[in-house]
Amino acid sequence: MVNSVCVFCGAQYGDYRQAAARLGAELGSAGLEVVYGGGHVGLMGALADAAMTAGGRVVGLIPERLLEREVGNRAITELQVTDSMFERKRQMIERADAFVTLPGGLGTLDELLEVITLRQLGYHAKPILLIDLDGYWQPFVSLVEHVIRTRFAAPAVRELFQLVDSVEAVLPALGVPPATASRSVAAG
Ligand code: AMP
Repeated sequence: MVNSVCVFCGAQYGDYRQAAARLGAELGSAGLEVVYGGGHVGLMGALADAAMTAGGRVVGLIPERLLEREVGNRAITELQVTDSMFERKRQMIERADAFVTLPGGLGTLDELLEVITLRQLGYHAKPILLIDLDGYWQPFVSLVEHVIRTRFAAPAVRELFQLVDSVEAVLPALGVPPATASRSVAAG
């Protein structure tokens, strides 16, 4: 059962500020805990603000070194300052029951590949969703298919992650029906 969702997304807005806010609102009002990188910049900030406004629980994990650069977000339920990038990622991965990826940059790619490869090696079996807004993740899918075609990975690795084409498709893909979401909100 999914209670806590880790979101990977850009520390810039790109063209997806609204989408990040929509995702935060959906997760927050569904009563799901949002785990993320703890910053108040870019899509990360938009996601966290919207989840908090929706009455959600938001946990941020940020390395001490990035507190200033990514503007550590003190306006969330819990902000954990970690000693290192590795510890941040370890805790994000451990705390969540599922991973959802919005568009983002190289940091987002790193986090996404980490959870995919850990799943490939059997370290976890948590769902990994990519929100494929405007086909944002198609080049990534093509790269994975290239790796499979050239026999550096088994065809089954394509099943390690799932694409959804909208923010609205996230809760159903995680098995959280909208009816349950409404009840969670009502229950406070
Ligand atoms: P970006 O997608 O580059 O905008 O970065 C999104 C988030 O990923 C930011 O919070 C970065 O600090 C984080 N990030 C960047 N590099 C790494 C890395 N090597 N491991 C884990 N997170 C990273």
